[in-house]
Amino acid sequence: MSDNVLFFSSYCTSCQKQVLGTRALAEQEGATQLVWQCIVCDHVLDPDDPRSSWLSEQELEHVGCYLMDEDADSKHGEHGGCRDGQCGVKQPV
Ligand SMILES: [Zn+2]
Repeated sequence: MSDNVLFFSSYCTSCQKQVLGTRALAEQEGATQLVWQCIVCDHVLDPDDPRSSWLSEQELEHVGCYLMDEDADSKHGEHGGCRDGQCGVKQPV
C-alpha cells in the first residue's frame, strides 16, 4: 500500500497551471541546488509559492494526474521499469 505517499504540486508559471513537481539538480546563484521542477516543462517551481502543496495519491486527479496500478505492466514493460520518475504519471491530453 502507498497510503502515506505524498506528491509535491505547485503552480508552473511557464505552463500556467498546477503541475506535479520532480526533484532535480539546478544551478542557482552559482551553486548546484536540489530544486523542484515542473514535470511537464522542467521549469523550476517555487516551494514557497502559496499554491504549492503536497497531494495524496487520491488528490492527484486534481492536477490531472493519476497513478497506474503496479500490475499494469503490459503497457510499461516489467513492473514499470522506467526510472525517470515519470512512468505511471499521465498528463491530460
Ligand atoms: Zn511547466
